[in-house]
Amino acid sequence: METIAKPGVDPKELLRNLPRSGETVLMYVDGSWCEASDGATRTLVDPATGAPIARVAEGTREDAKRAIAAARKAFDAGPWSEMRAADRAALLFKVADKIEAHAQEFQYIDTLNNGKPLRETMYDVADAAGCFRYYAGLATKPHGQTFDVPAPSQTFTVREPIGVCGQIVPWNYPLLMAVWKLAPALAAGNTVILKPSELTPLSALRLASIFEELEFPRGVVNVVCGAGPIVGAELAENEQVDKIAFTGGTVTGRSIMRAAVGNLKKVTLELGGKSPNIVFADADFETAVDYALFGIYANSGQVCSAGSRLVLQESIADRFVERLAERAKKIRVGNGFDPKTEMGPIISRAHLERVEGYLEAGKAEGAQVLCGGARLEGPLAGGNFVAPTIFDRTAPSMKIVREEIFGPVLVVQRFDDEADALRIANDTIYGLAGAVFTQDVAKAHRVIRKLRAGITWINTYHPTYNEAPWGGYKQSGMGRELGTYGYDAYTEVKQINVNLDVAPSGWFEG
Ligand code: NDP
Repeated sequence: METIAKPGVDPKELLRNLPRSGETVLMYVDGSWCEASDGATRTLVDPATGAPIARVAEGTREDAKRAIAAARKAFDAGPWSEMRAADRAALLFKVADKIEAHAQEFQYIDTLNNGKPLRETMYDVADAAGCFRYYAGLATKPHGQTFDVPAPSQTFTVREPIGVCGQIVPWNYPLLMAVWKLAPALAAGNTVILKPSELTPLSALRLASIFEELEFPRGVVNVVCGAGPIVGAELAENEQVDKIAFTGGTVTGRSIMRAAVGNLKKVTLELGGKSPNIVFADADFETAVDYALFGIYANSGQVCSAGSRLVLQESIADRFVERLAERAKKIRVGNGFDPKTEMGPIISRAHLERVEGYLEAGKAEGAQVLCGGARLEGPLAGGNFVAPTIFDRTAPSMKIVREEIFGPVLVVQRFDDEADALRIANDTIYGLAGAVFTQDVAKAHRVIRKLRAGITWINTYHPTYNEAPWGGYKQSGMGRELGTYGYDAYTEVKQINVNLDVAPSGWFEG
């Protein structure tokens, strides 16, 4: 395996557009840049080198409350929620233009802060601009329905914004996850408080500076940094928040749902997965190997929809895993700033140790390591690097088969026939994604319809489109993001019933 330890860019120069006080990068609340209420800060670390990259304000519950109050005021007093959709859309199109105008800056910020290779952050930035354009366009399209009801009534529906939305996003796609939440919420006329992961707030803060430049009304967008159990929990609990939208782990998702019951706020959850990638013997061999690789090692496996279980037909399994391991060993792992790098680091030391725990558990439970199986030392020792790993000869009860690892670790599960493949694929608490590789069209459709998962692929893995819904069955979440579903999730439906014959009802005689 080739490793690349090339150092990155100068963080000071790259982060020059982020408002600061002294050395502290500030948060964006109620149309102003501010420090935390208690002055606390957090030092961000480059996951590829362990070097400090910036000091950022670390928000408190007080900061979250102030942002919620600003969003509440902006929603209740208007004009944002009452503007014509076309006017909101015009601003959102400009956000997309600005993201594109600063595409390289956003790309580099996410590579610096998250560690992912430039080849990945390039797509993230393009998708982020596309997402704003998609929802700017959708805002102005028809959203209501009319109904055939008895005369003299006429009944129709309108969609209205829900109100103040708390949005909590993780570290694996710092810019894109923020945009998936901001774009539909704003297009529909809501006001928002975004909480990026405490590990990766920089691109969300740069985005906030674009909202400021474009003179979005004060309080419409707020970005509060800080720890999940503090700032995130306040957003989930606070009764002035009308909706909470969350992407992250399933355990945290459960706590968000519990916290949201106080005012029964609307909840959407995009959670984890342990997604099956089913390969039949009649699949195009090299295509299936290639996507098995891409399905698990893209973004170092830190993807909710990662194809982390390779469900492989026994008759081709030995040849398939041999080829897969041969290619996995050639993946160029290293610093994301080197254009040759194909796989970057794990997000943090703590997460690296968590992934290592799974590697040890796999070995202890008797799975066979075909490649990888350990962190990378040598020139990459300062960063959080794990070698692309494949475990074969697994058993369904193993921890590495049942739990989301969120790292570059693939487990192989072998099967004999179609029924067996489906039983293995669906044997999980999760239901986010899944794929099937076969050249038999009828079999592909039969299997995909029986997969209990919200996002599925036939003869491919991972393509994601702003136009198509994203979300999970079972414990992988509630609701959908993206597409028209993602817009609807930020609206309430109002029925309007009109009496066309204005006269007393005559129901009561007296
Ligand atoms: P979390 O689910 O804890 O973090 C995701 C977001 O939730 C972050 O912004 C985090 O804030 C916030 N958060 C954490 N705790 C709370 C809380 N009590 N109330 C409100 N918000 C909270 O993921 P981790 O980073 O801890 O990773 C743990 C595991 O979760 C991973 O190993 C992976 O399995 C899964 N995961 C899944 C993701 C997905 O896309 N489905 C994304 C990330 C993780 P902060 O980071 O600032 O603490």
